[in-house]
Amino acid sequence: MSTRPKSVRAIKWVGVVLSLFLFAVWIVSTRIVGLCALQSGWFFGFAGGQVGFGKENPSNRFLPPGVGFERHALGFNWESRFRVRDTGEIEVYTPAPFVLAPVAIVTLVAWRVDAIARRRARVGHCSKCGYDLSATPEGAKCPECGAGRPAATLG
Ligand SMILES: [Zn+2]
Repeated sequence: MSTRPKSVRAIKWVGVVLSLFLFAVWIVSTRIVGLCALQSGWFFGFAGGQVGFGKENPSNRFLPPGVGFERHALGFNWESRFRVRDTGEIEVYTPAPFVLAPVAIVTLVAWRVDAIARRRARVGHCSKCGYDLSATPEGAKCPECGAGRPAATLG
């Protein structure tokens, strides 16, 4: 196992992009309604500061399949709804910040974890457990936790 897992770095950057995207959707959704409806009846979109998805009853459809955007100044709506009907209809929506917040928290934690690992690697400590590797031969695994020792790289 690498001491600076690629997954942490992937989460860092995917998290940043996703957070910015969700924030942009939130702001845009206060003025523009966006909707994408699929042939199967599933739809997803944003409106009034909310993001959501759902499924229409196949025998009673209102939304023609396709993608559409319309101007509607709906502002910020803080309602959430999670509804599944017997008819097979599904309706789920919630304010975009409620989706953004967990993504942003995970992203911040990934940045923090990676920063700590980087600092430890720089001062010659195991980036996973912090064990002092100054007496450990170059290329050997950490005697404390068994993590592979990273090459002395920055970045
Ligand atoms: Zn270690």
